[in-house]
Amino acid sequence: MNTNLELARVSTKQQMNQINKIIKVAVLSPLDSLFDYRPENGKKIEDYPIGSRVNVPFGSTKKIGIVISYSEKSKLNFEKLKPINSLIDKDPIVGKDFIKLATWISEYYIHPFGDALFNMLPNILRKGGSYNPYVMNMWKTNKKGQDLPLNTISKTPKQKRLLELLREKESNLKEISELDILKQGFSKEIIKKLFHKNLIEKYEKFYIPEKSQSLIDGKSENSNLKLTHEQKLSIDTIFDKLSSFEVILLDGITGSGKTEIYFQVINKVLASMKQVLVLIPEISLTPQTIQRFTKRFSKKIAIFHSKLSEKERLLAWRACKEEEAEIIIGTRSSIFTPLPNIGLIIIDEEHDSSYKQNDGLHYSARDIGIVKAKNQNIPIILGTATPSLESFHNAQKNKYTHTKLKQRAGNAKLPNIQILDIRNKVLDNGFSEEAIHLIKNTLKSGKQVLVFINRRGYAPLLMCHDCGWNALCPQCDARLTVHRKQEALRCHHCNFSSRIPEKCNSCESKNLVFIGQGTQRNTETLQNLFPHFPVIRIDRDSIQNKKSFEKYIKKINSGDPLILVGTQMLAKGHHFPLLSTIVILDIDQGIYNPDFRSEEKVTQLLTQVSGRAGRAEHEGNVLIQTYVPDNDILSSWKKGGYHGSIVEILKNREFHELPPFTHMGVIRADSTKPDEAFRFLKSLIDNNRNDCSQNCQIIGPIPLIMEKRAGRHRAQIIFKSKKRFDLNKTINNFKTLINSNKKNYRLRCSIDIDPSEVA
Ligand code: ADP
Ligand code: ZN
Ligand code: ZN
Repeated sequence: MNTNLELARVSTKQQMNQINKIIKVAVLSPLDSLFDYRPENGKKIEDYPIGSRVNVPFGSTKKIGIVISYSEKSKLNFEKLKPINSLIDKDPIVGKDFIKLATWISEYYIHPFGDALFNMLPNILRKGGSYNPYVMNMWKTNKKGQDLPLNTISKTPKQKRLLELLREKESNLKEISELDILKQGFSKEIIKKLFHKNLIEKYEKFYIPEKSQSLIDGKSENSNLKLTHEQKLSIDTIFDKLSSFEVILLDGITGSGKTEIYFQVINKVLASMKQVLVLIPEISLTPQTIQRFTKRFSKKIAIFHSKLSEKERLLAWRACKEEEAEIIIGTRSSIFTPLPNIGLIIIDEEHDSSYKQNDGLHYSARDIGIVKAKNQNIPIILGTATPSLESFHNAQKNKYTHTKLKQRAGNAKLPNIQILDIRNKVLDNGFSEEAIHLIKNTLKSGKQVLVFINRRGYAPLLMCHDCGWNALCPQCDARLTVHRKQEALRCHHCNFSSRIPEKCNSCESKNLVFIGQGTQRNTETLQNLFPHFPVIRIDRDSIQNKKSFEKYIKKINSGDPLILVGTQMLAKGHHFPLLSTIVILDIDQGIYNPDFRSEEKVTQLLTQVSGRAGRAEHEGNVLIQTYVPDNDILSSWKKGGYHGSIVEILKNREFHELPPFTHMGVIRADSTKPDEAFRFLKSLIDNNRNDCSQNCQIIGPIPLIMEKRAGRHRAQIIFKSKKRFDLNKTINNFKTLINSNKKNYRLRCSIDIDPSEVA
């Protein structure tokens, strides 16, 4: 008897377990796990499709979640599990590929899965909003409204006419919106009356707004360019690789015609009915780039950048997921866009630092692009004139296909480069006699000049001539920059700003001087030297909006002689065919940067800025002023160009065991309390007991070079390992320690894998 009873119990328990399946849900949370729920009463787990959003109870609050999987087991008793509150999406908003990518991101970047997953979504979806960003109200008759004899409402002729109208539309299988009903002369009141008589009902319909910023119909203009020999070779190489996963480094100097190569490859992929994703560095590039694309392809083009409204962003996202958009152009975060039918990814200017996100979820869009391409078994093209050391190294090891273009397309010539030693030279507000002479001659011959200085504002330093006091940011370990136009001192590292003081803070002397150069001051100097020519300043301060930027671009493209003064905003991708002289003022600042990537960055900047010169048929000149003319970077760059110098830089990296020869990660912490971050990181190291650490070098804690920033004191631990596995395991162990130790400290802490900057 007893045994039978036992058996019966066991079998019902088994049955219970069969039925008691649970739903595993990801929510936006710093916790790593998925959360278990049961269906609402009367519902089955299948009623909650994987990839759909749900409303769930979470502690004492509610959260939006995404269904990730089903399971038979839970750490909690089934009875203790809370039921889901409600289902948001009948159809999943993300697919299995999306969840797979999120899983990779979470593991690789050591970031909570739910947080990573929600980071990949447009804001509206993250907050639980509708998948359809633009809907209009529609009306139709219900059963009663269809059957009602019309004479029963003949006393109210307007209501009768509206009912007739709806019936007529429906019999022709047409729909009618509330807006159209109103346009036909019916008031809202009439609609309401029919609704209250229970004759009609409302529903919503998705539509695409006419003047969308994010979803554009392109035109197909034919290109009559005759491809160069190098372009043909590259295209052939790429065509050979289109059927499966392959990383192709398209390594072509500025002006070699990489865009035309993209276009031909895109055409080929579109012809096989696949979607193409093109990543571009940042907003300043978009107006020109987008136009090039929209002119060339008569396809639906989705566009993502940071200036879009949330609705526009979702509109484009939706069009990608529904396979309506065939070409997708966007900045960093568009790498997350779901593209069920993707055939090709292009990362333009793959070396660009804007592909790296440095807060919240720290990720590299380029690297995620490669993983995405691998998951989908499709090719990815990394295009650049200045390959990152990582990509170049991979190409040299034959992990990537390497295709090169060494000549400019058309008749464009490469510029002459002169490195000018300015030690002991008399400078006029930062300009050498040689530079002024060169600018004068260029303008005289009717051509354009670019003066490059990577510093906004008027002067980087305000100093007291009597006692040497200088203006520091109260919140950062940094000097304040003088902005003369706004009569302000500003910190370029936080939002701090104050009026320029009339006297010294320390000795009250009125003898304050502006030291050093910034774009504002250079503009002023040049305008005084060349009063008859326009001097246009292009930096983040002068380009407040797209309109003013486009106005400048138009002026530059008119071809009249003028001087452009700009920061690296101008070094990126812009194509100014009439620039013939470039003066680079302060490359030394970059050379002295302590970050291990600074040599690479300086060389890229030099190459990119110089590449702006002589892009049309004019021969160009580049003049670089420096106090360190014998510096290794400058001389190897002058001698061997970009590729010559990165071979040297790679040797250095190998010697010092730096990426790409080792893998790196950083844990950073910051707090308003001095020493707090440092003590916290120290506690992590003291508590670390991880075998893998033997194969992973742990350096720190050390303060950041700019220890205080925006009022927060910062420290870091640097991890280096030859093996990705050991790095990951060690930092994962630290992460557990972070979670358990953090309660006792007041600070923020983040993990950065493959950091783009360590200083
Ligand atoms: P990159 O992106 O490699 O710096 P672009 O694609 O912007 O270069 O091309 C630079 C310029 O050369 C553009 O004006 C482009 O129209 C032109 N160009 C490209 N291919 C050719 C070609 N085969 N013949 C003549 N001009 C070309
Ligand atoms: Zn003083
Ligand atoms: Zn500051």
